[in-house]
Amino acid sequence: MIVIGGGPGGTAAAITSAQNGARTLLLERGRFPRHKVCGEFVSPEALGLLFQLLSGRERALLEEAVRISQARIFLDQRVVETPIEVGARSIARLDLDAALWQSAQQAGVETQQQASAHSVLGAGPFLVRTSLGDFEARAVVNASGRWSSLKPAAPNPGHQRGKWIGVKAHFSESSPSDSVDLYFFDGGYCGVQPVALRTEGDGRRINVCAMVRADVASRLHEVFELHPALGRRARRWRPCMEPISVAPLVFARPEPARAEVLAVGDAAGFLDPFVGDGISLALRSGTLAACCLAPFLEEKIRLSEAIHHYRRQYQRQLAPVFRSSAKLRRMLEIPRVARRPLLFFLENSPALARYLVRSTR
Ligand SMILES: Cc1cc2nc3c(=O)[nH]c(=O)nc-3n(C[C@H](O)[C@H](O)[C@H](O)COP(=O)(O)OP(=O)(O)OC[C@H]3O[C@@H](n4cnc5c(N)ncnc54)[C@H](O)[C@@H]3O)c2cc1C
Repeated sequence: MIVIGGGPGGTAAAITSAQNGARTLLLERGRFPRHKVCGEFVSPEALGLLFQLLSGRERALLEEAVRISQARIFLDQRVVETPIEVGARSIARLDLDAALWQSAQQAGVETQQQASAHSVLGAGPFLVRTSLGDFEARAVVNASGRWSSLKPAAPNPGHQRGKWIGVKAHFSESSPSDSVDLYFFDGGYCGVQPVALRTEGDGRRINVCAMVRADVASRLHEVFELHPALGRRARRWRPCMEPISVAPLVFARPEPARAEVLAVGDAAGFLDPFVGDGISLALRSGTLAACCLAPFLEEKIRLSEAIHHYRRQYQRQLAPVFRSSAKLRRMLEIPRVARRPLLFFLENSPALARYLVRSTR
């Protein structure tokens, strides 16, 4: 089997496939370790699976990671606080993707970095054309993320107003709190949370990651001015890295398979980032895809049956989170005046706030 893309979705698929005994090749266009645009919030639901996927020596990552025990939502000069009961983790993508990549190697996956897949031909067996040459496989998993040459071109948003971008950097802040803080403003939001790198441990690093409409802001310092409390807080920060950005971010209904190729993670569907479940969804869909392909690779069922099974399980287990997050996004987009009663209820009903956080899961 060939897996295209070495992020959480691709490594989860490759590790599970190798654990199931299939010969697996994992192709990654870039190199690890590297920073990626991400809020770096790893939801509690992802932790058990992450533990299973990481090899023994990489599991220390989970112990070392900063615990996030509450969420604070800053909206319209109000703050709604809600505990995150089981305790989420903050894990730098620089460390997470590298640990999963190492774990794939230790699970027996053949790995190739700087190997860009250009096209997938055939419908089983497949021919994968890459920058390193052609490879043949009985099954292919597309884990190439929300935007890659393997996906049909994203619909053109037409004008700047509809275009969303993501921008992120690490800063240092004295005594950051153990919460994920989400600052909402018209045209986007910015998440702030403590994070630690494995190579250092001074406990002052924070990750700042914004999703914003391109006509509203394109740089982090412009984002900071869009929310007064965020602007005041940001004046005390010192940068630890150059900001990185991605564009465009396009939301569409998830599509778990296309032309006999299974899609996992963002390649199947991009989830609103403020839900903080994209990594979890990538790990779960990657694992699910490999499990659905296993009986085909053992020659017990046809490829079409494996794909059918994956589609059905994806709709049942994973698609609901897309619907809940779209509902939540629509709620945040309602006019400020109409938002007031909702905020009042959220502030005065911790159970409702917890329910809203849970309902995105
Ligand atoms: C602004 C923002 C904030 C976010 N915050 C959070 C958060 O706090 N928590 C959370 O859980 N999720 C968050 N997400 C979502 C999360 O980052 C993604 O859902 C997650 O990275 C998906 O993993 P993936 O493996 O599908 O894709 P990726 O992590 O994008 O990995 C895809 C890989 O495929 C490689 N690739 C691409 N094309 C090719 C090719 N042709 N050949 C070979 N390799 C290729 C890429 O180099 C890349 O390494 C956020 C996203 C954004 C944009």
